[in-house]
Amino acid sequence: MSAVSRDLIQLRPEGLYCPAGDFHIDPWRPVPRAVITHGHGDHARIGMGAYHTTRSGLPILEWRLGEQVYVAHEYGAPFRMGAATVSLHPAGHVLGSAQVRVEVDGEVWVASGDYKRQPDPTCVPFEVVRCDTFITEATFGLPVYRWPDTAEVARDIVDWRDHCAGRGEAAVLFCYALGKAQRVLAELAVHTDRPALLHGAVAAGVEVYRRAGVSMLATLPVNETARGADFAGQLVIAPPSAAGSAWMRRFRRAQQGFASGWMRIRGNRRRRNYDRGFVVSDHADWPDLMRTVRETGASRVIATHGNTDAIIRALREDGIAAEAFRTDFGGEE
Ligand SMILES: [Zn+2]
Ligand SMILES: [Zn+2]
Repeated sequence: MSAVSRDLIQLRPEGLYCPAGDFHIDPWRPVPRAVITHGHGDHARIGMGAYHTTRSGLPILEWRLGEQVYVAHEYGAPFRMGAATVSLHPAGHVLGSAQVRVEVDGEVWVASGDYKRQPDPTCVPFEVVRCDTFITEATFGLPVYRWPDTAEVARDIVDWRDHCAGRGEAAVLFCYALGKAQRVLAELAVHTDRPALLHGAVAAGVEVYRRAGVSMLATLPVNETARGADFAGQLVIAPPSAAGSAWMRRFRRAQQGFASGWMRIRGNRRRRNYDRGFVVSDHADWPDLMRTVRETGASRVIATHGNTDAIIRALREDGIAAEAFRTDFGGEE
């Protein structure tokens, strides 16, 4: 029989669990009390008794999950869950995204959820929260992943659209519908004032962001554009699921691009037949993962999401106790 773990956050079949507070963080099976870091599908699932979220993340959960029992908290405002003091802190990932800080008897754990350190005009920047144990995501936990300046990438996207215009083609850019599309539209507004056309799945999320006061490039729904319209020179934003679908047939001539951290690897673009790859990610790149772990001051680190081996090895070389949790996260990228 194994000893009872005293860890503040533990891996259970339902997801990350805090025994002292009797709640789960981003659980993947139904539980009574869930603290949700953000609205992506691998973190915010249906079937929880109550959803604790940030105030700014609430409209996103309402969009994705519909009517539920929600408890909204301001960033940094502590609340009690059983014997635990919990607070939510900006993760810089998407609108309303949060890290979860848990304190019990003076010991502090932070579960990062997904996060990034790059500037993003659509959400509050990541806040470094000092802790004893840091549960970090590691979606892009390999040294090859280093992000370029997103403002420069946005200029490349405008240049690509103009290049397509010269060839009589539409420029169809695939972006995740929550977070990435809005961030790209906000960055594009600096470089162009020609509206972008939106696929319906993207338009819904853009509307949620606009209602929250996020300023972005002007947009029009593709559906309201006349059938048989000439889309030459138009920038069209669509979710990755639209690639290869019947929806694409309306564009007689189009180039297809993908905005994702995965585009850092040229083979990914070729394998999926994109004409262009734009490196834009809402996750921390390798240098920012390593920097963030150090800045938290944590003596113990638990990695989740994807590429955990390299980060564990690098941290152990620095004398930090590092291990992995095998989680069900990692869907959106
Ligand atoms: Zn996410
Ligand atoms: Zn995730």
